[in-house]
Amino acid sequence: MIPTRIDLPRPLPPLTYLAPEGLPAGVRVQVRLRNSPAWGVVLGPDPESGPHRLKPIDAVLDPFPLLPPKVLALQGFAAGYYHAGLSHVMALALPQSVKADWATPLEDGRRLSDLRDAGDWEALRALGEAWHEGRASLPTLFHRRGLRGAGITEVRRTDQPHPLKVTALQGRVLTALEGQGGAMLEVDLLAAAQVGASVLATLERHGLIERAKRLDLMTQRRDERIDKTILLNEEQQRAAEAVAPGTFGAYLLHGVTGSGKTEVYLELAERTLASGRRVLWLVPEIGLTPRLLARLEARFPGQVAVGHAGLNATEKQADVVRLLENGAPIFVGVRNAVLAPLRDAGLIIVDEEQEASYKSEEHPRLHARDLAIKRAQLEDCPVVLGSATPSLESWEAARSGRYRLLRLTQRPAGSRLPEVKVVDLRECYKEARKKVIFAPLLLKVMKDTLARGEQAMLLLNRRGFENFWMCRACGETLDCPHCAVSLTYHKGPYRLRCHLCGFEAVPPEACPKCGAEHLRGVGEGTEQIEDLLQAQFPGARILRLDRDTTQRKGLLEAGLLAAERGEVDVLVGTQMLAKGHTFPRLTLVGILNADLGLKVSDFRAGERTFHLLTQVAGRAGRADLPGRVLLQTYSPEHPAIVHAVAQDFQAFAAEELPYRQGMGYPPYTFLSLYRSEGESPSTAREPLHRLKARLDLIQGLRILGPLDAPVPKVKDRYRAQLLVKAPSRALLTEALRQAPIAPGGPITLDRDPLGFGA
Ligand code: ADP
Ligand code: ZN
Repeated sequence: MIPTRIDLPRPLPPLTYLAPEGLPAGVRVQVRLRNSPAWGVVLGPDPESGPHRLKPIDAVLDPFPLLPPKVLALQGFAAGYYHAGLSHVMALALPQSVKADWATPLEDGRRLSDLRDAGDWEALRALGEAWHEGRASLPTLFHRRGLRGAGITEVRRTDQPHPLKVTALQGRVLTALEGQGGAMLEVDLLAAAQVGASVLATLERHGLIERAKRLDLMTQRRDERIDKTILLNEEQQRAAEAVAPGTFGAYLLHGVTGSGKTEVYLELAERTLASGRRVLWLVPEIGLTPRLLARLEARFPGQVAVGHAGLNATEKQADVVRLLENGAPIFVGVRNAVLAPLRDAGLIIVDEEQEASYKSEEHPRLHARDLAIKRAQLEDCPVVLGSATPSLESWEAARSGRYRLLRLTQRPAGSRLPEVKVVDLRECYKEARKKVIFAPLLLKVMKDTLARGEQAMLLLNRRGFENFWMCRACGETLDCPHCAVSLTYHKGPYRLRCHLCGFEAVPPEACPKCGAEHLRGVGEGTEQIEDLLQAQFPGARILRLDRDTTQRKGLLEAGLLAAERGEVDVLVGTQMLAKGHTFPRLTLVGILNADLGLKVSDFRAGERTFHLLTQVAGRAGRADLPGRVLLQTYSPEHPAIVHAVAQDFQAFAAEELPYRQGMGYPPYTFLSLYRSEGESPSTAREPLHRLKARLDLIQGLRILGPLDAPVPKVKDRYRAQLLVKAPSRALLTEALRQAPIAPGGPITLDRDPLGFGA
């Protein structure tokens, strides 16, 4: 036994334990931490450890590193880059429930435990290497208790008779199921019975239902016919040909929605499979891409595994074991899937690469798109980033030649881009002499749209009924007592709510400061829009989709499917509406206040607004039904709005990039944002002052702060931040080495932050 450094998924630096000599890095072990069991991952021997008494580890969990060597290398890179322990990164891709079976004899009669007990870690290491390289098969390596296949969950009624006594909620589930012939998709069932997943769990425990994951369900999800015989047009062919197989290269595939990017990915995937390698396919959100899954499954039946952020532990275990055993050569997943133990990736796709959901908002704050590039380098394979509105980072990389730009300019299915018209709310105000929520033109077009039996979608990126309340007499706003933000009025529950901490209060009758009874709400939200619309269009079927109406799992998907089936006339909602799903009869998109996102003090505000506006605008219209977009704004001259109206990404980039360059922001400068919290503004800043003193010694950094965070108080904690700019990523990594921040200490790090955050 020798001193060995072990990283534990706790807010602690790596600890040193005694572990068998020869244990390779990347193997998980079980240890005791303050007398309770914990797992950790071996980093290597600790030559510096003194003679003080060290605790031995309790057990070795993996016979050899279970992750393919390149995936382990990627995770090691991510740990260093994002300043996180390896175990924190590993936990995202290798569930604890994936465990080796040490006892079942291998094909040659030996048992893994025999090798372990003989201390022959070298033999185990060699066995692992052979297994990773496909030279050895280890069919009994994993425990498979309780494993289900990966895919989409179906709930089935068992043949146990309907019991006499069930709770009302359970009764709704059983009735819904029995009404549908005994089987339903879990998402549909939850929506139909209006219950949460825990009710299903109870019924399953009682043996009344069973849940199964079934891959082939992806095709049954809808009866849509999928054309498997599409021939790529010349542009698509050129794009596919340009991607050099079997070697690293980064490509940016730029084309509007409907330009056939997915068909190009499918073609590339097919070539990759034919060459014997595998495909890692990243999407921003699985729940919103049923059509993609159906297309994939139709083209590559039985070869697609889906990693779902919402999977439970058993499902994740099944997924990972399936990957480790090479069960599916195509793996589709969200953010963390970039770390997935898919072996020998020959193609990595990052669809909608500009999406913010690729960046984690929790430690480790990794960016899946950036790691996808790194992974492609390690795997020596192409990575294709696709988007209608690329991130400015990727666009600049393509412009400067680091990525190869591939362009699709047509829409093969024949659909046209919708016509976008600006409505200047200042003019409307002048005419009406009061604030206008729906311009007269919007109301008229909506009326016509509904009369033709078509659908409309209204976007307002603000939920609640009124954004905040203020006193007309003294100007006081009603703020959250725990956070530095105002409370939002929600009419349904009749509450003022804090969107940051969840605090709520019954709205007061009078101003708490001056006592005047002149409180008024300011700034309409989606809840109010729904009310106003119902009054304007009494017969219309209106569905509101925002965070308040889709809290329960599956409700968003269920709502979108209902709209897709034509059961909804008007969809009202926040940015949730922008993504996924095509609505066959949606011909009008109304953007009620395009300026909302521009007001935040953030260098990406323009870019985010441009993305959101072009995305929702693109929802309108199909090949046979031309679409219309009305965009209401108080600032029609703002570049993000001008170019969104023209749906001209390149013009937007051409105007925005020089601004970024001038201000010293990405993609020309790289950022590390250090944050800290405290009981008071000064205690929040203090650790950052100390860090700054150390960073000041490093040449080439520009350090701004410490300053208050944009929202300086949340949940009674004050927040401060220190922004560090550098001309290269390497310098920021070097800064981490020279001025380290302690795991579990007061400072957290966000590398390449998307924004300066709430
Ligand atoms: P994107 O991923 O860029 O949004 P898709 O690949 O989904 O575009 O293509 C949009 C629509 O056009 C799909 O219905 C697709 O089947 C169809 N399509 C794509 N390429 C072709 C082609 N070469 N010929 C005919 N239809 C095509
Ligand atoms: Zn609050």
